[in-house]
Amino acid sequence: MTTERVSVIGSGPAALMAAETLSEAGLGVDIHEAMPSAGRKFLMAGKSGLNISHTGSRAEFAAHYLDHDDRLRDCLKHFGPDEIIAWMDGLGMPAHTGPTGRIFPETMKASPLLRAWLRRLEGRGARLHLKHRWMGWNGDGALVFDTPQGQVTVRPSATIFALGGGSWRRLGSDGEWTAPFQTAGIALAPFRPSNCGFLADWSDRMRDAFAGAAVKSVKLSAGGKETREELTITARGVESGGVYTLSAPLRDEVETQGSATLWLDLLPDLEAADIARRLAAAPAKQSLSNRLRKALKLTGVKAALLFECADREALNDPASAAAAIKALPLKLTGTAPLDEAISTAGGVAWDALDDHFMLKHRPSHFCAGEMIAWDAPTGGYLITACMATGRAAGLGVLAWLRHR
Ligand SMILES: Cc1cc2nc3c(=O)[nH]c(=O)nc-3n(C[C@H](O)[C@H](O)[C@H](O)COP(=O)(O)OP(=O)(O)OC[C@H]3O[C@@H](n4cnc5c(N)ncnc54)[C@H](O)[C@@H]3O)c2cc1C
Repeated sequence: MTTERVSVIGSGPAALMAAETLSEAGLGVDIHEAMPSAGRKFLMAGKSGLNISHTGSRAEFAAHYLDHDDRLRDCLKHFGPDEIIAWMDGLGMPAHTGPTGRIFPETMKASPLLRAWLRRLEGRGARLHLKHRWMGWNGDGALVFDTPQGQVTVRPSATIFALGGGSWRRLGSDGEWTAPFQTAGIALAPFRPSNCGFLADWSDRMRDAFAGAAVKSVKLSAGGKETREELTITARGVESGGVYTLSAPLRDEVETQGSATLWLDLLPDLEAADIARRLAAAPAKQSLSNRLRKALKLTGVKAALLFECADREALNDPASAAAAIKALPLKLTGTAPLDEAISTAGGVAWDALDDHFMLKHRPSHFCAGEMIAWDAPTGGYLITACMATGRAAGLGVLAWLRHR
């Protein structure tokens, strides 16, 4: 056992995996967390089932990351879905794989897993310091924390920052760490919402009648990508699974063009010709709503979307109506606020880090997790990369301490 102590700042999945890697190697670890309890965002992620990873070959898995930095790919190669399943087993939390390949703990919730994880870390001597907010470095390069006992300075052998992105600040991930990083001259990419909702200029009728409605059995596409996950209408626009999956191309389009188009196929299991034929066969004296309902079972929120987004006159022509049903353009006028995003792109620029996740201009200081500028969809890809980079930063510290 060594007397060497390392500070890990943050207590999300990236921090805890870093702490695990260090404590397994016999190092003393101090985990400093600003909030009164650990892993609040991780617990929120597990509220309706903790989707911790996703099945797929290494290449398929890596293809989901929108950043082509080899360092991210390398650490995912060494710690991907198979390793997460084995790690969960080791924690006494067996994994369950859902029908679409999403990996969850059998218990579904994050809380039993987090409790077991913290217990194991404490058993290995890691100390958790809650209500310890890292404020920056003092003139001597020591870490400065605000604590209930006042300001505390710490000078560990090495430090791993795992401070999270810039969304859901009430859970602790407030992005305030960017200020001391900026002052220290560390290159940062601006935070951008990812896996986020979008804004739409709904008519009063659409908003009043359908805010909260789920649009199911639909195909969504944007920027050359498509998904059959559903979307939810909100008072301000759209959100949920399918929208999150397409959020990166939609966000990029909003940023470059000022608005984006989400294309909806309202009847993905019917060909346009079939839809046109059924509409043409409906009695002309029926109202358009009745024809859509009787010939195509197109009712409720789907019919409302059609009336909202298509040229009303053109819908009287069966071929034009079929074309609109198969490719309905929904104009999105902006992204929902950053703080509401499931995750944030941006953060510490890859250029600021060496191959071991150490800050080039701050030797002995490493970074891990969502605070690094990578981007990925939900589906378990976020937490997997947080854990993989946490482990890589932990290994980076071990290598650095060895060769110092
Ligand atoms: C509603 C919701 C659902 C989600 N669902 C999923 C999902 O199903 N699958 C998935 O893969 N991902 C999901 N995510 C995303 C996932 O939770 C995050 O990507 C992940 O938690 C990021 O891990 P992290 O360790 O990098 O940072 P975080 O988990 O954000 O942890 C950072 C920690 O650092 C602390 N901190 C910040 N600043 C300071 C400071 N100055 N001093 C001390 N401590 C500080 C924070 O309090 C926080 O505890 C979801 C997120 C949300 C909000």
